[in-house]
Amino acid sequence: MNTQRLTDGLTALGVPFDAAAVARFEAFHAILDEYNRKMDLTAVLEEDERIDRHDLDSVAPLSQGLLAPGAKVIDVGTGAGFPGMPLLILRPDLEMTFLDALGKRIAFLQDALARLGLRAQAIHARAEDAARLAEHREAYDAAVSRAVAGAAVLQELTLPFVKPGGLAIAWKGPGVQEEMDAARRAAFVLGGRVRGVTPAPVPGREEWAHCLLLTDKTGKTPKAYPRKAGTPGRKPLA
Ligand code: SAM
Repeated sequence: MNTQRLTDGLTALGVPFDAAAVARFEAFHAILDEYNRKMDLTAVLEEDERIDRHDLDSVAPLSQGLLAPGAKVIDVGTGAGFPGMPLLILRPDLEMTFLDALGKRIAFLQDALARLGLRAQAIHARAEDAARLAEHREAYDAAVSRAVAGAAVLQELTLPFVKPGGLAIAWKGPGVQEEMDAARRAAFVLGGRVRGVTPAPVPGREEWAHCLLLTDKTGKTPKAYPRKAGTPGRKPLA
């Protein structure tokens, strides 16, 4: 792994790291490679591209100071652990929960967490079902989510997990402005208010850089939400 590229990127983004975190990134990439040889876990990327697209893209909330020490965070639709794993690697103080509807990805994450010596929960469930359980409902300071659904759908998949006073953070592409009205309306129904969009730059990668759509949880989510698994995607709230 080109650790120089990783550390230069983190430095440029103003994200603190130590040698132990860099070693965990290296180990995580090695485990990803091992699994990718056996199963289709993530798109296989050239190593520098993986650092940029996965690791550096994931850490934007840290350069913006969005996650307080010890914050309880859920990564909804984490896939192979993005953005949650880079966040936890850099900030093992976070109380991280990984959630995905696909069992093989959760099994991979459980193995990776054990081998990296990181403590976190990895849950195999659909967001719509998990958010109805007392232990997860409005139990998190922040919900993070990348490449899972359109903004309005995502509000229904993430806001029910977030405590009043907490924050939902969604990675979005350049088309986010077209989704804003729908995102605002959905947030309103779910007890949230869209704060706005902030850039999530990756050095030298302006052509595809994401931004973060930030939604404050201002009140409680009505009991009717999230709707039955699959409904948010089929009939987006807005
Ligand atoms: N967040 C990762 C990333 O950025 O690399 C994975 C993105 S992948 C395109 C979308 C992931 O969301 C898949 O792993 C899928 O199983 C999961 N997913 C989609 N809808 C979901 C739902 N309703 N509940 C839980 N997981 C969901």
